[in-house]
Amino acid sequence: MQIKCSHCTKMFAENRDAALAGLFAIHNEGQNHYDALCPHCQKAVRVSDERMNETYPNWEAEYEEMMKRAAEFEKKQASLKEQAAANKGKPKKEKKKRKRKR
Ligand SMILES: [Zn+2]
Repeated sequence: MQIKCSHCTKMFAENRDAALAGLFAIHNEGQNHYDALCPHCQKAVRVSDERMNETYPNWEAEYEEMMKRAAEFEKKQASLKEQAAANKGKPKKEKKKRKRKR
């Protein structure tokens, strides 16, 4: 979603996943706004819950989908870790410290 920073008035695109997580917090943790971080001035920009709901009317479905994706990603990561552990036979250490003598 496009957000106009209330501090420096520049526009920026807010990450959808972050916004969905923000919506979850609004609906489940009693927050009444979402804080987006402006990439230009690094300040938190307040986005009202109404604006959030309007932008993501199907946020619940989208949030669930996002969590599914995250779970799948974690599974992949876990299997990658297992693979890495299985390949651990040969430790890869090829760091050579170069000492420069001058
Ligand atoms: Zn800003």
